Amino acid sequence: MKRVVIKVGSHVLSDESSINQNRIDNLCKFLSELSDKFEVILVSSGAISAGQTKFNLPRTSVVNKQILSSLGQPYLMEIYSKTLSKYNKLAAQILLTAGDFDSRKITNHAKNVINGLLENKILPIINENDATGISEIVYGDNDRLSSAVAHYFDADLLVILSDIDGYYTADPSLDKSATIRPLVTVLSDEELNKTSYTGSKHGTGGITTKLLAADFLMKKGKDMFLASGFDLKVAREFLLNSNQIGGTIFKGKR
Ligand code: ADP
Repeated sequence: MKRVVIKVGSHVLSDESSINQNRIDNLCKFLSELSDKFEVILVSSGAISAGQTKFNLPRTSVVNKQILSSLGQPYLMEIYSKTLSKYNKLAAQILLTAGDFDSRKITNHAKNVINGLLENKILPIINENDATGISEIVYGDNDRLSSAVAHYFDADLLVILSDIDGYYTADPSLDKSATIRPLVTVLSDEELNKTSYTGSKHGTGGITTKLLAADFLMKKGKDMFLASGFDLKVAREFLLNSNQIGGTIFKGKR
């Protein structure tokens, strides 16, 4: 059975000051459909946003974001557990930091747990452990963590469900004539080093961290698909019917 990692950005899960239950419902239904065909691992952002719905602390410092994340993480898991139970699915939480992948021993421990969860048809939900690692908070929204998860836990594909529905020829919020690039086989240094790409208010990654995630996987011979997390039609069609009707596929070298 093929293994896929689905990564969902915080902007998809939350609005200004609340969790968007409707989108979480759609996501959980989709995850349950996928798990009939694939082994599915979810990488979910959203702990800081979930924390902010419980307690009014400004996101003005790293430590405040860590506080909000530790407050919001169990709440986020509660929402996932409740919603997934409608589809008879159990969810388990795994918190990792990017640095965990530097140790083969730690990576193997986590991989054993992931394999065991998947064998038992339990959905592993991974987030960065924000209390000890701050790369998500500082660099961006789990995009790169999800590429490490896909590679080190032997997935065939990473799917990033974002507030943006693909990789455009230019920033679509600035250039209305920009179009989606359906297929990308190579990313230039210039594309990977652009720092002007800001991303949204809730999300922190912007497009650059998604491109870095794609580049990492492409160089390992793996693929990444970027599609909208607001409307799951494109991702559903791609994964369940092998039909690309939108989004961007970043194809790795074989
Ligand atoms: P998420 O919250 O889903 O992780 P972000 O909001 O952090 O996503 O990043 C996506 C944003 O990156 C888009 O909303 C868009 O404004 C911006 N962006 C800049 N350049 C591009 C591009 N070439 N293609 C797509 N999006 C781009």
